[in-house]
Amino acid sequence: MVERQLQRRGIRDPRVLEAMRRVPRHEFIPETYRHMAYDDEPTPIGCGQTISQPYMVAAMAEALALTGAERVLEVGAGSGYHAAVLAELAADVLTIEREPALVAAARENLARTGYARVRVMEGDGSLGYPEAASFDAISVAAGAPEVPFRLLEQLDERHGRLVIPVGSRDDQELRLICKSLEGLRTRIVNYCRFVPLLGAQAWKVEE
Ligand code: SAM
Repeated sequence: MVERQLQRRGIRDPRVLEAMRRVPRHEFIPETYRHMAYDDEPTPIGCGQTISQPYMVAAMAEALALTGAERVLEVGAGSGYHAAVLAELAADVLTIEREPALVAAARENLARTGYARVRVMEGDGSLGYPEAASFDAISVAAGAPEVPFRLLEQLDERHGRLVIPVGSRDDQELRLICKSLEGLRTRIVNYCRFVPLLGAQAWKVEE
C-alpha cells in the first residue's frame, strides 16, 4: 500500500509514510469488509460510511505538515483509523463523530490497537470542539458546502492549518487553509469525493 499507492503518487513526508506503515488499517474495518482493507479505494465501515482511500488519508496528513508537537482536531472519526494515523504524527488528537454507533466503534478500535490516548467525542463537528480549542491543526474527513467559520475560529491564530474538502455533495476540492497573524491563505491540495459533512455549519440532514 505504502509503496504502490502512496510513494508512487508523490507522498514524500517520511513521518507520514512511517505512520501509514504502522497503523494496522485492517483492525479498523468490520470483518465483512476486511479483505478490502488495503485496496486503493474507500472502505465501508457500516452506517453508510467509509474510511477514506489510503492515499487521501496520507495526502491530508502530509498537507498539515505535522512535526509531533501539535494539538489536532479531526472531524468525522468514522472507524478511528485516520485519527490513529494523526496520533502517530502529533502530540494530542481529539476526534468528533455524529453517528453514535461509529463513536462506539472508533473508541473500541482505537483502544484495541493501542491508541486509547485519542479522545473520541460524539457531536456535530461542523461546530468544531470549542471546549478544547485552539488547535494547531484541524482535519475534516467529510465534504462541506463551505468552510465552517467555527472551525476557522478554533485554529491557532499564529500557525493554525485546516484541511477540508469543499464543494458539491458529489465533488470537492481538498483545501488547505493556513491561519497566521497576517490572515488566511488557501491552497488546493487535490480533488476528491467525500461523504457529506452533515450539521449546523454544513449540509442539512434532509438536503
Ligand atoms: N476518518 C474516518 C475513518 O478513518 O474511518 C472516516 C470518515 S468518513 C469519510 C466521514 C465521517 O464523518 C462519517 O463517519 C460521518 O458520520 C462523519 N460526519 C459527517 N458529518 C459530521 C459532523 N457534522 N460531525 C462529526 N462527524 C460527521
